[in-house]
Parts: sequence; C-alpha cells; structure tokens
Amino acid sequence: MSAVRTRFAPSPTGFLHLGSARTALFNWAFARHHGGRLILRIEDTDRLRSTQESENAIYDGLEWLGVDWDEGPFRQSECGDRHREVIDSLIARGRAYRCRCTQAELEERKRNTIAAGRKWTYDGRCRDEDLGPGCGPHTVRLRMPEDADLSFHDAVFGESGQEASEIGDMIIRRSDGDALFNLAVVVDDLDMGITHVIRGADHHPNTPFQIAIYQALGATPPVFAHVPLIVGAGGKKLSKRRDPVSIQNFRSEGFLPEATCNWLIRLGWSHGDQEIFSRQEIRRLFDLDAVHRSSAQADTAKYAWLNQHYLKAMPREELLHALLPFLEREVDGKVELSPGLERLVDLLRERSKTLVEMAQQARFLVSEGIHYDPKAAKKYLKPETRPVLVDLHAGLTHVEEWSEAAIETVFERVRTAHDDLGMGKIAQPVRVAVTGGAVSPGIFETLAALGKERTLQRIAAAIVFTGAD
Ligand code: GLU
Repeated sequence: MSAVRTRFAPSPTGFLHLGSARTALFNWAFARHHGGRLILRIEDTDRLRSTQESENAIYDGLEWLGVDWDEGPFRQSECGDRHREVIDSLIARGRAYRCRCTQAELEERKRNTIAAGRKWTYDGRCRDEDLGPGCGPHTVRLRMPEDADLSFHDAVFGESGQEASEIGDMIIRRSDGDALFNLAVVVDDLDMGITHVIRGADHHPNTPFQIAIYQALGATPPVFAHVPLIVGAGGKKLSKRRDPVSIQNFRSEGFLPEATCNWLIRLGWSHGDQEIFSRQEIRRLFDLDAVHRSSAQADTAKYAWLNQHYLKAMPREELLHALLPFLEREVDGKVELSPGLERLVDLLRERSKTLVEMAQQARFLVSEGIHYDPKAAKKYLKPETRPVLVDLHAGLTHVEEWSEAAIETVFERVRTAHDDLGMGKIAQPVRVAVTGGAVSPGIFETLAALGKERTLQRIAAAIVFTGAD
C-alpha cells in the first residue's frame, strides 16, 4: 500500500457530533496503524451555517479525544479558486459544459417528464450548445458518458455504485460561481493526495457522483470505506435534540477521553470479543477489514461502564486533576487538594460512573457547610439519635491518631453501650451528619477522610439539629 493519507472533513455547522467524532477516530486509527498521515479539512463552504464557534468545538473535541492530525487544518472555503480552475479545465476539455436552463424551466420539464411516466434526469438541452462564459446566468454540468461505469468496491459495504443514466449530467458549479459539494470534495481529496476516504455511510450515495468526477478528471479514485450509521438504544435513529450526542456534552457530564475513544472505536468495529482498548491498542489493532456494515448501537450503559473502568484504573494524581474542575463547578468555588480528598477519591472511584457523580459524592468534603437532604435528615436525625451522637462526639474528641481503626473502636464502644445497637443504626445518622445524605463510602473511611475537626463540628451541628424542635 502506498503511504496512507486519510482525512477528516467535518462541516463546522454545529457541535462535534458523536458520529463525526467516530469518523475522526477511525481515520486517525487507520492512519496511525499504517504509519500514514491524517489531514484535517474544515468543509466550511456553507457560509450561512458554518461558524467559528463550531470550528473551535471541532478542534477542542479532537484535542480532548487525543485525535491529533498531521496536516491542516485546511479550509475548503479557501480553495474556491482552485475549484473554479478545475471546472474551467473540464469545460475546456469538453468534459463539462455551461447550462442556461433556469430553475423554473427545469422544474416544468421535470414535471412533464414524470407526468409522461418517465424518470427525470437532465435532458441535455444545453449539452451541445457550446455556451461561452458570456452566456448569461448559468450553471456548469458534468458531461456524463452514457457508458460510464460508476461502480466501486467499498471497503466496508462491498460492491457499490449507481447507473450513470440515473445520474445524468449533474451540476458541478452553481449559478453563483461556487462549486458543488461533490466537486469540491473530489478536488480537495485529489490535491491532498488522499488514499482512503473513511466517512459516514450517509455519504455512500454521493460516491458514484464523485467517481464520475474522478473519471472526468482522468484520476484514480481513492479507496472508499463508509462506516455504519450510529443508532440509539433499540435501533432508533439518534436525534440531536433528544440524545446528548455532542462530545462537549459527554465531556461536561464527566466522561473521560479514554473511555470515549474506547466507546467510539467499538461503534462499528470489533476485535474478537475484546471490549477494553487503550489508545495504543486502537492504533495497533484497528483496520478496515473488521469494520461492520450493520448499524452500531450507541449503548450509553456500556459507555458508563467503560468510564468507570477508566476511572478505577487512572493514577490518583491524574484523577484528582481531572476531578478538580468538576468539584469546583459543584461547590462553585476554588478547591484545594488535600490528603483527605486523595483518600476519598480512592473510595469514590469504586462507586462513581462519571466525574460529575464523583464530584457530587465528594462535595461534602470540600464545601464549608453541608445541607441535609430533608428526607435523610427526617429519617436519621431524630431526637432519639441524640444520645448516641453525643456519646460519639465525646468519644471521637479523645481520638489522638485519626485513623479508620481508631474511629471504629469508638463506634464499637458507643454501639455496645447503647444496648448493642446495630452498626447501621449509628452509622446512618453520622453519615447524614457529615455528608448531608444517606449514601457515602464506609463510615469510618468517610470520617477518616473528612478529618477530626470537621467531623466533630458536623456531629455537633447534628446534635443541635436533633434537638431543634
Ligand atoms: N463535510 C462532510 C460532512 O461533514 C464530509 C464529507 C466527506 O467526508 O467526504 O458530513
């Protein structure tokens, strides 16, 4: 195989969508696997819908995913002159021609053709008129040879193509002078020396149009690989409105880039029954022959499972670093790292699926005060809990070395002194007292992480609360 050159060619007309990110990752993985290059091309020719904000979201999203490119970003809008030049050369060589038929005329002829029970493709009225540049408002059409063979072998979908007669003489330049999408894509792919076009299956039907342009240019088409559609749970079409499908969204929900890449790479590709793939493994193992044709289900439960896997495996320093912005968002203020937080994070990674969940569960440790969950407070901080809390407070005051074992000893003593109370009966009120809620890691570990001073303060506050009415 000659040196592989792939490209990711997003249109900056919205956020970086799950499907686009998957396309980017596949192109990256394929290029890296073959020691090739990835080119980033921003297809911003739709001037009304393209925005800088969306372009920035593409860069941010790719950077976050660790999808690095080797050339670009190039902007398709900057290649307008080149597209016009190629179209002019096609006209000069008789492979394209100017067409003066107006929209209204075309529509009328189309209506009549369909009414007569025939299929409509352009009827060739201007094909042999040999119109020059001064012919007035006009489009440019590709002259489609009747015997053109537009079949191609798709690396994923296999034999593909369309009859040239079904396409006819298609427009390649609009009356405003701009090239049409298919022409622009082909010219750019040729100029950039792209060897493999890996893109969403929604572009599969465009490919015969593009093959016709390659043929008119006397160029060899690249290898095409159309990657399967991504669908939601139960095979339903993903909706931008209903499903949270932007990479930015996943990121702010507290998913890790490693988990996201792992999830995305499995949307349409597999390697035996392996589920966990590091970025290195993706580079090493990914190839087009294991890309499936059938739609890929974006299973969010699996995404959460993968995320937890990576949360658990992450070095502590790195995890703290990743968690910090989420914690700061949670408490709406600056958060300092502390040994207590380090300890807590190790406990929470076993019980959180996302950084957001982890931050919610770590909130009690980094916020000054806590708010009781009303239901938990009503259930556990009752007047009859007061004597237990008072005794615990007294016992814990005397603990010299604030360790889980020392805390447990005090709990054990107080529990026995109160008619052998079940441990849950004393742990739950304390949990609500120190975290505000009824769920946290083990109570001794929680108190050990919180520290002596704040534990005592919070138990004291809970004692006051139990006597409040
Ligand atoms: N710009 C197109 C898109 O965002 C991709 C075109 C291509 O990959 O050929 O869907």
